[in-house]
Amino acid sequence: MKIGFIGLGRMGAGMARNLLGSGHQLAVYNRTREKTEALAREGARVADSPVEAARGSEATFTMLADDHAVSEVVFGRDGLASIPDPAPVHISSSTISIAFARRLAEEHGRRGQPFITACVFGRPEAAENKKLVVVAAGEPETVDRCYPLFDAIGRAAFVAGPAPWHANVFKLCGNFMIASLLETFGEGFAATRKAGLDHHRFLDVMNELFQSPVYRNYGATIADQKFEPAGFALKLGLKDVRQVLELALELGAPMPIASLVRDHLVSAMSHGQEAQDWSSVSKVLARSAGLDDEATAKTASA
Ligand code: NAP
Repeated sequence: MKIGFIGLGRMGAGMARNLLGSGHQLAVYNRTREKTEALAREGARVADSPVEAARGSEATFTMLADDHAVSEVVFGRDGLASIPDPAPVHISSSTISIAFARRLAEEHGRRGQPFITACVFGRPEAAENKKLVVVAAGEPETVDRCYPLFDAIGRAAFVAGPAPWHANVFKLCGNFMIASLLETFGEGFAATRKAGLDHHRFLDVMNELFQSPVYRNYGATIADQKFEPAGFALKLGLKDVRQVLELALELGAPMPIASLVRDHLVSAMSHGQEAQDWSSVSKVLARSAGLDDEATAKTASA
C-alpha cells in the first residue's frame, strides 16, 4: 500500500521503519526535518508538509505527542484535513484525549474523510522490533482494510469498538494500569530498602509471581534507576493520567488511584523530572520515605 506517516519521534520512527520493511511505499513528514534522514536513506520519500505526506496515499498515520500536536498537523497550515478528495484513511495512533478523538471523527466525517484510531502499547524498543500491541477502533470495514498495517507494526491487534474514540478508552485505561504499577513499585521498593533489604532480590520474587514483561521491564528500570534516556517522557505520562481522569469524571467512574498517581507525577515535574522516563515517579516515593536521590542512586548501583 501507499502509506503516509507523520511524526517520527521515539515511537513513530520504529513504526514507520517496519511499514517500510513490510514492503509498503512510505512518505514521511516530521516537524523537525532531521529526524526523517534515516528513513530517507532506507527508501522513504520525505514530504515538506503533512498534506504532502498524505497525498496519493491510501492511509496516513499520525503518531504525535498530544492533542495540540495532532491539531496542528491535521487542522494547521497544509494540514492533513486540507487534502483534496479522495482522502486517505487517517489512522490516529497518538495517545490523545477522548474529547479530541471525538472532534477528529466529527471534523473528518464532515469532510467525508475516513478516520480510525490505532493506539499502541509498547515502548520504543517494541516499536522498533514490531512488538507493539495495537488497539484499533472505527468503522469496521475501514478497520479491516487497515489490518495488514497493524500486522506490519505489531505482534497483536485488537478492535475496541465501532467508534474511533473507543480505542482511546482502552489506551488511557491501559496506561492507567501501567501508571499504577509504577506507583506500587515505588512504594514497595522504598519499604524494602528502608528495611535494609536488597530491592533487586525483591524484584526477582515479584517477577516469579507476576510473570509479565511489562512488570519485568519497568521493575528493572526502577530498581536500576535508569531513567535516561526516557522511553516515555514523564511529561507525556502526566498527560495520559490527566486524560484518564477527565474520562473518569465524564463517566462517573471514580479512579482514586489515578488521582494519587497524578499528584505524584506533578511532584516529579516540580523536581525537574519531566524529560526523564515516567517510571522515575518512583523517586517521589523514595523521597517521601526519606531516601534522597543520591542514596537512591548509590543503592541502585551497589
Ligand atoms: P516523542 O518522541 O516526544 O515524539 C513526539 C512527536 O510529536 C515528534 O515527531 C514531534 O516532532 C511531534 N510534535 C510534537 N509537537 C508537535 C507540534 N506542535 N507540531 C508537529 N509535530 C509535533 O513522543 P513519543 O514517545 O514518540 O510518543 C508519541 C505518542 O505516542 C504520544 O501520544 C505518546 O503518549 C504515545 N505513546 C508513547 C509510548 C512510549 O513508550 N514512548 C508508547 C505508546 C504510546 P519533533 O520531532 O519536531 O519534536
